[in-house]
Amino acid sequence: MKFDDSNVDASQVQDLRGGRGGGGPGRGGGMGRGATVGGLGIIGLIMAVFFGVNVAGNEPEPQFIPTQTQTQSQTRTGTTMGTGSDLATRCNQPGAIDQYEDCFITKVFNETNEIWASQVQGYRRPTLVFFERGVRTACGPASSDTGPFYCPGDDKVYIDLPFMKQLLNRLGANGRNAEAYVIAHEVGHHIQNITGQERRVRQLQGQDPRNRNALSVRMELQADCYAGVWARQANEQGKVQITPSELDQAREAAAAVGDDRINPRLGQEHFTHGSAQQRQEWFNRGFDSGDPRQCNTF
Ligand SMILES: [Zn+2]
Repeated sequence: MKFDDSNVDASQVQDLRGGRGGGGPGRGGGMGRGATVGGLGIIGLIMAVFFGVNVAGNEPEPQFIPTQTQTQSQTRTGTTMGTGSDLATRCNQPGAIDQYEDCFITKVFNETNEIWASQVQGYRRPTLVFFERGVRTACGPASSDTGPFYCPGDDKVYIDLPFMKQLLNRLGANGRNAEAYVIAHEVGHHIQNITGQERRVRQLQGQDPRNRNALSVRMELQADCYAGVWARQANEQGKVQITPSELDQAREAAAAVGDDRINPRLGQEHFTHGSAQQRQEWFNRGFDSGDPRQCNTF
């Protein structure tokens, strides 16, 4: 994966890690691994990967900008927050994107924002939060074990990098393109938040608790589709060069996090994210069309 420039914009990044660049022991976000969203077992831990919003909805009616009228949409200049500036300094040194994982992730995050700002009316940029061990969010406290996730309450994508890497490797999804897919998927949940889809689905789930999982699957598949749309658009606009084999890595990652891959014994009614095949299919659908309106999983 190659980028059209090497500027890394850390203005929408919050770095809560104690050790610079992650991996160090650090102070963490204020809570140990024990104090999490409810002591998940090992299977539960893995299943919670890409937990994301875990909500789904009905009619999308998203405010996507029709292709013909797409203009250079205005990306809000973000405010500097947290210790994102340390990251900015390090990530803007020559070769930093190749060298540092968090610089690469931040760059991918930048590119998702650039693309979506041109696709969605009233787009507001989310924040990327690097944390380790535990973090407090508007959606409640979370630990690394939750896996990367998006909180609609604060518009933030939360990532414990080393933990995510470990998790992906365990599921057989290797390489940076697998990580890029994860970022694009989580930002996909942000799109659902902006379009109101997230809220609608949460309402539906409240009204019809028996359909909770099925709705969740639709929501997750839509985020996969949006990830595909991003990859296509970014590639087409020349912002990111993705080779066919890199694209395969992303597809593989989408399949690797399918419910049936994570736990082959899980009954379909317990799926919350979709099967490997479904996840890959929706990612492909997004990529093949490059059109978010094709991502109607409902
Ligand atoms: Zn998700």
